[in-house]
Amino acid sequence: MRLSQMLFVTLRDDPADAEIPSHKLLLRAGYIRRIGSGVYAYLPLMWRVLQKVSQIVREEMNATGAQECLLPQLQPAELWQESGRWDTYTKAEGIMFALTDRRQQNLALGPTHEEIITTVARDMVRSYRQLPLHLYQLQTKFRDEIRPRFGLMRGREFIMKDGYSFHGDEDSLKKTYQDMYHAYSNMLRRCGLKFRAVEADSGAIGGSGSTEFMILADAGEDEVLYTEDGKYAANVEKAVSLPPDAVDSAFSSYEKRETPGTDTIEKLCNFLQCDATQVVKNVLYQAVYDNGVTVLVLVSIRGDQEVNEVKLQNELTRLAPQFGGKAVLKLTVPDKEAQDKWAAKALPLGYIAPDIGDDYIQAIKDVSPKFLRLVDATVTSLKNFITGSNESGYHVVGANWTEQFTLPNITVDIRKARPGDRALHNPEQLLQTARGIEVGHIFQLGTKYSQAMGATYTNEQGEEKPLVMGCYGVGVSRLAQAAVEQSYDKDGIVWSVAIAPYHAIVTVPNINDTQQMAAAEKLYLELNKAGIETLLDDRNERAGVKFKDADLIGIPYRIVTGKALANGKVEIVKRATKESQEIALEDVVVTIQQWITAATSQS
Ligand code: ATP
Ligand code: MG
Repeated sequence: MRLSQMLFVTLRDDPADAEIPSHKLLLRAGYIRRIGSGVYAYLPLMWRVLQKVSQIVREEMNATGAQECLLPQLQPAELWQESGRWDTYTKAEGIMFALTDRRQQNLALGPTHEEIITTVARDMVRSYRQLPLHLYQLQTKFRDEIRPRFGLMRGREFIMKDGYSFHGDEDSLKKTYQDMYHAYSNMLRRCGLKFRAVEADSGAIGGSGSTEFMILADAGEDEVLYTEDGKYAANVEKAVSLPPDAVDSAFSSYEKRETPGTDTIEKLCNFLQCDATQVVKNVLYQAVYDNGVTVLVLVSIRGDQEVNEVKLQNELTRLAPQFGGKAVLKLTVPDKEAQDKWAAKALPLGYIAPDIGDDYIQAIKDVSPKFLRLVDATVTSLKNFITGSNESGYHVVGANWTEQFTLPNITVDIRKARPGDRALHNPEQLLQTARGIEVGHIFQLGTKYSQAMGATYTNEQGEEKPLVMGCYGVGVSRLAQAAVEQSYDKDGIVWSVAIAPYHAIVTVPNINDTQQMAAAEKLYLELNKAGIETLLDDRNERAGVKFKDADLIGIPYRIVTGKALANGKVEIVKRATKESQEIALEDVVVTIQQWITAATSQS
């Protein structure tokens, strides 16, 4: 492609609305253009990158025996009602774009495709002989994200590879899951990315085991906790650890103490000269289930620890049937206004005890009349602890479970693991922290969707069984931007050869110099003919501008038909290292071919 004929517009300055380097660079280098919030045009250079990433994804998927297909983006509401996700996706997370057609039918723009694929399998898979089966697609997804940002990182319209597998049993699912683990690792390696596979929360998609693939970068929205020995890595949402040991309590007898102005743990510990590990902190949450029932949740956790709201949400989902619901639509720390809706009297906030009376809750429709009391495992073994007294300005000290308080019967792990905590697999290993960009997520779904939607098969014994499922997603457009986030310098993008939009760019310093132009045209032809994807910068611009642009767009090899032509040579500059060398005209094609082979086979 000739730059003189391309839509090629670069910006000298950083665009005002871009915060992170990769977003700034993709805008500046003319790869993408913002059309609306979380909506971008992929311009020709970007589209080539996306196609290269897609091709790598395809090759790795096909190598596992998965088959490509294309599923509809317009999805009938009934299917989402059958799976029980219509409300969670349109109301709770509200992440799904829903619309009504001219016949007043509800539809959604696909944010993910479990419902569609399960419908296909329900209709077409009959027998164990058809299993296992794995279908995937590369397609635009739509999600009404709460905070679209960082360009392609969190868009409202983005490209995803999503695959779904069907099995007769868990063992078969586990095998495909392992295959996907390897396929994803290969994809990322081939794209030239540094990544880490981490244990992950399964979120609204559901199911048991799941692994996320994280690109390590400071701008990552996710926090990863890992150990140096390489044996443990998890998203902080999911991470587990050993909490620090609690300090022995200084209080040996139970009493109520006046503790004015101590509505936070820090103030309380200063006032009582105690350690936060001796305190039972009671945190109030408000959960609204999909059937409209509000449940007040009291979480008792050690004073030095924080509640992991993802774990709490999972726990509340598990308990949903107890309240006649299926899913949690909303989980919040109730503010004054929310409390006013259900509190029978002013709550002793900051001084709440584990046994706060249910009479604080008004008897009203759709509000569960009792607190749901959950204790985190960190508090069950505390002795002579300090906690609230249910009276503002007072705490109790020297308290014990079974003496002054009854241990609520639901003990859970809803603690946030933190950097510095000891690892479960080896307490000598301490958790370290890193930022990551989630580019892939693989799940063992089990029978959640097949059961809800009646997708069954007949096994070898002639029995009808629900299909066991897995699902596997790669954020293709996010991955492409993450690659930039991981590889750039002060002059611009540094693409890896495997996903660069072009391999080489022939830069003509002065297009009015016929010798320069002729040599460039010849190289341009030869390179492209040899399968080396090459640009020709034949614009009527100063050499300096062309060099700057070539660096900005990040093409791996720049060939300059300048002064060296006098000796029958051209200058070739490697973008990544800025290393430059002069090479005889007739050796250019072979040399670059070798470099490309070396760069794409080692990764
Ligand atoms: P996140 O936690 O970042 O919102 P997710 O858990 O919702 O991601 P999945 O539903 O597992 O993501 O989707 C599979 C992949 O699609 C993700 O791993 C990610 O790479 C990509 N992805 C998800 N949401 C977006 C988005 N809004 N913009 C771009 N890519 C996305
Ligand atoms: Mg999401």
